[in-house]
This record gives sequence, C-alpha cells and structure tokens, in this order.
Amino acid sequence: RFSTAAAVDEVIIPQVQIPYTQHLIDGKFVDSASGKTFPTYDPRTGEVIAQVAEGDAEDINRAVVAARKAFDEGPWPKMTAYERCRILLRFADLVEKHRSELAALETWDNGKPYQQSFNDELPMFVRLFHYYAGWADKIHGMTVPADGKYHVQTLHEPIGVAGQIIPWNFPLLMFAWKVGPALACGNTIVLKTAEQTPLTALYVAKLLHEAGLPPGVVNIVSGYGPTAGAALASHMDVDKLAFTGSTETGKIVLELAARSNLKPVTLELGGKSPFIVYDDADVDQAVEVAHFALFFNQGQCCCAGSRTFVHERIYDEFLEKSKKRALKRVVGDPFKNGVEQGPQIDTEQFEKVLRYIRSGIESNATLECGGQRLGSKGFFIQPTVFSDVKDEMLIAQDEIFGPVQTILKFKDTEEVIRRANATRYGLAAGVFTKNVHTANTLMRALRVGTVWINCFDVFDAAIPFGGYKMSGTGREKGIYSLNNYLQIKAVVEPLKNPAW
Ligand code: NAD
Repeated sequence: RFSTAAAVDEVIIPQVQIPYTQHLIDGKFVDSASGKTFPTYDPRTGEVIAQVAEGDAEDINRAVVAARKAFDEGPWPKMTAYERCRILLRFADLVEKHRSELAALETWDNGKPYQQSFNDELPMFVRLFHYYAGWADKIHGMTVPADGKYHVQTLHEPIGVAGQIIPWNFPLLMFAWKVGPALACGNTIVLKTAEQTPLTALYVAKLLHEAGLPPGVVNIVSGYGPTAGAALASHMDVDKLAFTGSTETGKIVLELAARSNLKPVTLELGGKSPFIVYDDADVDQAVEVAHFALFFNQGQCCCAGSRTFVHERIYDEFLEKSKKRALKRVVGDPFKNGVEQGPQIDTEQFEKVLRYIRSGIESNATLECGGQRLGSKGFFIQPTVFSDVKDEMLIAQDEIFGPVQTILKFKDTEEVIRRANATRYGLAAGVFTKNVHTANTLMRALRVGTVWINCFDVFDAAIPFGGYKMSGTGREKGIYSLNNYLQIKAVVEPLKNPAW
C-alpha cells in the first residue's frame, strides 16, 4: 500500500482518453437500440466525463441473444480448457500493459486514489485472471462409488449464459470476481456495469477480445438498474445471475429471477462489520488497522469495519489515537500523490453520508472530529469519528458507506459476541487480540463470511468471500466460486461384467 507519509503536491495528470462508450455486444461496439445516452461524472468536480450508451431491455436482449449463440454454437464452451486458459493469460498480460491508463480511468470515473488503483487494484485484477486461468483446465467431475453394478460419474458443465450486475465501488475488481470464474468454467456472459462507473469494463472487455476471446462470449451493457439491470435479472434465456450491491436491490433481483425462469442467484450484499479490539492488543497497530478497515476506498466497502468495538480498559486511549489518525488523513484530489481519500462516488451517496452524520449527532453520539463536507465542489467529506455510539442508533445499524467511524465500548467476550451478531448483516469481522483462545472463540461465534484476526481487508484470489444472513448467498473467489458457474450432471451406466 502507498505510504501515507509521502504527501506531496504533485498531481498526476491522467494521460487517458475515453476510448469506448458504446455497448460491447457480439464483439462489436454498438449504440443503444433507442439511441439514448447518459452522463458519467467526475466525482472530484461533479462535471460530466463522457456520455455513454444507455441500455435498456432491448439492448439486454440483443446481448443475451449473442451470448446464447456463443454458448450454444461455440467455440468457447467447446474449446479445450487449455485454449481458454491461454486466452485468459494473454488477457491478463494485456491488462498489465495498459495498467496506467486503466488505473487513471478507474480513478477518474470512481474517485479512488490513483495510487490505490495503480498499486493495488490493477495488480489484483491481473492476479485474479491468472488464478482463474489456472482453474480453466483443472475443472472436472468424479467417479462415484454407487451401490449396485453401475459405473457412475459426474460431468462438471458450464451453466450457460451468466447475467452479472456489478456495483461502482470497485468497478474493475468486481468485473474480475464475476467474469474470471464464469469464463474459466466455459460460460458466456452479459454484464451490466453500474451507471456511475461504466468506463473501465468496456476498456478491459475490448482487451479480452484482443486476447482472442470469440465474439459474443462477453457482452457489456451500460445502463441503469431498474431498466437494463431488471431486464437482465428477469430474462428468460439467462441461466444464472450474479449480483453485487445493496441488500434492497438484492431482494429485487432475486424476486425477478424467481418470477421469470428460476435462474440460480448469487448475491454479495451489504454489511455492518464489527471490528473488535481487546485490551491485550497492540493499540497503535489496532488503531491503524481499524482506521484502514473503515476509511479505505472512502468508506465505500461492503465489508468496511463499520462498528469499532473497543474494550473498556483501552477505550479512552484508542479513541484519542483514532481521532488523531482521522485528523491526519489526507483528503483531496485522488490523482495527487499521498492522498488517501478522494471524493464519494456521487451526489446521492454524498448526501446520504451527510444525513447519517446528522442522525448520529441527533441521537447523541459524540462527534469527535469531521462531520462536514470538504471544499465547495465535488463530493468530498471530512474523515468523521463518533464515540459513545449505542447499538440501537441508526449509525450503528445501517450501512453508511462513507468515511464515518463509529466507536462502541464493550466489557467481555460474551457481550461483544452477542452485540457483534445483532444486525441483519453477516459479511465480515475483525478481531484484535494476542490471546489465541479469545481469537478461537470469536472466529467460531461470529456469524459472518470472513473473520480477519489481527488484520483486515486481506484479499486474495484464493480466499472465498461472501455473506451470512442478509449480506448475501454464495461465495466468490477461490475454489468455491466455481460452483456458481457449473452444472453437475450425473451419468449412470450398467456394468456388463459384474465381476469388474
Ligand atoms: P444498488 O444495489 O442499487 O446498485 C448496484 C447495481 O445494481 C448497479 O449496477 C445498479 O444499476 C443495479 N441495480 C439497481 N437497481 C436495480 C434493479 N431494480 N434491478 C436490477 N439491477 C439494479 O446500489 P447503489 O444504489 O448504487 O448504492 C446504494 C447502497 O448500496 C450504498 O449506499 C451501499 O450501502 C450499497 N452498496 C453496496 C455495495 C457492495 O459492494 N455490497 C456496492 C455498492 C453499493
């Protein structure tokens, strides 16, 4: 990760053009059937970056027809697995070659620090495709020892046309989490990007074709959720749906999938993850990691450590140090070296975060620092810390999705487990302690998909990620993600010679 100490004034001017703004359907860039476009904005200023083709049901349908044909007629699902592996590796190399343009475009459209895009997210994107390329030729079924004189085997087949809907907080990484496993398993795809961040997916999808991907295998449609997204979720010829975004929208797409053709759905939804610090932890380290766990990516992470539970014996010290750290956080133009925090994604999210800050103040939590807009243009918010937060306050229950840390006090393990689990979410948790027994107890008792012990936000292509409860269903990344994109076929044949 980039050094927070190296704050200098140099602004890296993005040497990037916007090469693609149309949908990518059947290997070609095309306008919307309606001819409509919509603007995508620079969150640093609120100014329009580009007009992008606005897809609706008709564009989704065209993309699904292309994906269906590419699946049914090939060559993609029928290629050797090794050929698919080589295309994915070539693609990863091309992304590496275009790393700086892609990182700049990601920062421009999303507002995240350029150093984060360039140093962390682009390398992780490449790593994810290397990982899934590695799986492509290692997916196979089993022979099954059934009772009776039968030869029984399973075939692991691609599921068909995968519909994928992604959010705006990690546009490239969400592309990789979804497209990587679907392609490794031999599926074809229609992906709808978030309306806030349509640009980088179009760029990398073009590179996929340069790497040798046949037309129709990956189709990208830009557009809004209730039109393009809903059309994809309810399409009768889409065999599987994968969604990342809010819990509310997750419910809508699940219902659309059920009401249309009962396509299976994986959901990565919201969170309100506890970050639990015991009195035996290294306080300075815990303060730094708790800060990172919440403020990383402008607080716009589904797994943000957004309820910081601190043991009463170290509470005052932890609070003082957390406040100091937040006051030191460098907020500004994300293209500037040393900037840790850029703007929120758009005016809607910006207003929502400020509303939650007001709600925290009104419910008598103590505002330790921040709480205001920063500057007069763009969507910048001061790093904000609340103490004296109570479990029932809205700021301790809802996903704020912004740079607002809420610090709560606890006394003992039984109490903190009960309180940590007392939300509708169950995505992740952090535990800071030197006591291995405490760590072991918490890792089992917390009803969440990931527990980070003495660390946070450690992501790796091989580590599965997903939620308990209303944080979602299914796992992405790692070996588990392949199940989302496979059908298991059982094949049974009588044995001619029972002796064998
Ligand atoms: P959202 O869930 O509405 O959007 C996510 C994706 O779903 C986008 O591509 C969007 O176009 C699409 N979508 C929206 N409505 C749809 C519909 N009716 N049918 C099909 N697709 C639809 O999220 P948002 O409005 O951008 O953000 C709202 C909140 O969601 C945030 O404040 C945050 O709490 C949460 N969020 C979570 C994640 C995450 O990674 N879990 C990501 C983004 C936002």
